[in-house]
Amino acid sequence: MKTPNSAVKKVIIVGGGAAGWLTAAILASARPDLTITLIESPDVKILGVGEGTWPTMRNTLQQIGISELQFVTACDASFKQGTSFHNWLDDISPHQYYHPFSLPLDYPNPALGSWWQHYQGQQSFAHSTTSQAILCDHSRAPKQPQTPPFAGVVNYGYHLDAHKFAMLLQNHATQYLGVTHLSDHIQAISGSTDGPIESVTGRSQGEIYGDLFIDCSGFAARLIGQHYGTELRSCEQTLANNSAVAMPVNYQQANSDIASVTRSTAQDYGWIWDIGLPTRKGVGYVFSDEHCSREEALSTLGEYIRHDVTSEDDPDLSQARFFNFKPGYRETLWRHNCVAIGTSAGFLEPLEASALVMIEMAAGHLAEQMPATSEQFEPAARQFNQLFTQRWQRAVDFLKLHYVLSHRRHNTYWRQMTALETTSQQLRDWLSLWQSRMPLGSDFPLREELFPAASFQYVLYGMGQSTQTALNGNPHSLHQAYEQLRHLCHQQLNGLPSNRELLSALSVLN
Ligand SMILES: Cc1cc2nc3c(=O)[nH]c(=O)nc-3n(C[C@H](O)[C@H](O)[C@H](O)COP(=O)(O)OP(=O)(O)OC[C@H]3O[C@@H](n4cnc5c(N)ncnc54)[C@H](O)[C@@H]3O)c2cc1C
Repeated sequence: MKTPNSAVKKVIIVGGGAAGWLTAAILASARPDLTITLIESPDVKILGVGEGTWPTMRNTLQQIGISELQFVTACDASFKQGTSFHNWLDDISPHQYYHPFSLPLDYPNPALGSWWQHYQGQQSFAHSTTSQAILCDHSRAPKQPQTPPFAGVVNYGYHLDAHKFAMLLQNHATQYLGVTHLSDHIQAISGSTDGPIESVTGRSQGEIYGDLFIDCSGFAARLIGQHYGTELRSCEQTLANNSAVAMPVNYQQANSDIASVTRSTAQDYGWIWDIGLPTRKGVGYVFSDEHCSREEALSTLGEYIRHDVTSEDDPDLSQARFFNFKPGYRETLWRHNCVAIGTSAGFLEPLEASALVMIEMAAGHLAEQMPATSEQFEPAARQFNQLFTQRWQRAVDFLKLHYVLSHRRHNTYWRQMTALETTSQQLRDWLSLWQSRMPLGSDFPLREELFPAASFQYVLYGMGQSTQTALNGNPHSLHQAYEQLRHLCHQQLNGLPSNRELLSALSVLN
């Protein structure tokens, strides 16, 4: 039995997917004073999808002490510079735009953007404001072999093999960070649902006591959902996708280009992701099972692969795995001495790869603001719940932006996804304001935004919107800035290797 106001020393993490191991590693590296035990069920497999990260992963890896070379080699990883969206605008003519990771050249100053609104209608917003777009056109790497680890000529994250990533994190956390790993299925929780958890009971280990319990048990949400009954706030009306079918695909040729971006192609009932790793590709169709059957989704994915010139001609569809999820998030993510991180906290859909970054942010926040005593759990929880609820709401709005601007209205799925009534008041307000001014940093007051104003600019203008704004600067100097950008593009195109060349030079592909 815990005494009131006892010191927080022992952390128990339930779940050994990417959320559990990332949280364990982040906490253990930042807070060596804590004792961390991770319990993972031998019966419940990890999700094992989630192949796209945000640039934040570079800091995370550095912080937990995994070298970039070790990571890239162990996880079959490649360098990701953003997302390329295909045919999201309509289902009639081909259309493409980028959401690159690098910020516009003069960001947060909107001047170059306003110049684009006036003079550069023929060239995309991304191509007019960052060199990264043209690098992505040519599957260029974000750096040279001699660039220091984790540094880039342009901003980048990674594509990775999710199973290999969880294994790397597990080995690292147990061997170097002092995390204890138990294989056991938690079948009972001790403690009233109105108060803190005292212990969790494993099938073989019996009772395991702790001061703070972190629920990383995935969609099962064993602690926050099953024990505490904390509700999931459904986003199904706004973001209808609730299923996915995914599979690995071989390259057509072993030395095919490795794309610098996640390729996202709109479909009749959702969209297909296409990710290039060094040794294979990972593709998947995210769809709504209200509108599309599993058979139809698999057939659409097969068609996509057969038409894709970089994929092998005859994909083995028996390798496809199906996933179901309820798009939503919990507003109470931290209750008493239990914090939910990962898919136990919520999951919207894979668009823009917002899940791993949310885990990094939650674990980082916890490491920084870990209460010293149990008396501080309640105020810490209030702060955490408020901040992360805002982050989830922001993520919903950003993902919805991709859909609501589409002209695809040819079926009930797209009519729902584009209906203004299914968007938040906040997003509607922004869409109204952004008719006469660009998305600005001041629209997004959180200290660490999941998606900065630049991300909203890339999607808004990529989807063909325009802003009737006054020119925000001297036309001559803005033209000069644009010419400088062209020069930079030329230099970087000539100076940077392809992704495959970089990975070969780093010996990852030998
Ligand atoms: C189709 C799809 C595509 C995705 N793509 C991306 C992407 O590109 N980028 C991105 O950032 N994210 C993506 N995600 C999300 C990403 O996969 C998850 O955020 C990530 O894998 C973390 O999952 P998790 O650790 O929360 O859950 P899981 O991987 O499901 O792990 C749950 C763990 O809990 C354990 N467990 C469960 N019950 C018990 C119990 N009773 N006792 C003990 N242990 C228990 C299990 O054994 C397992 O170890 C995607 C998700 C889906 C579904």
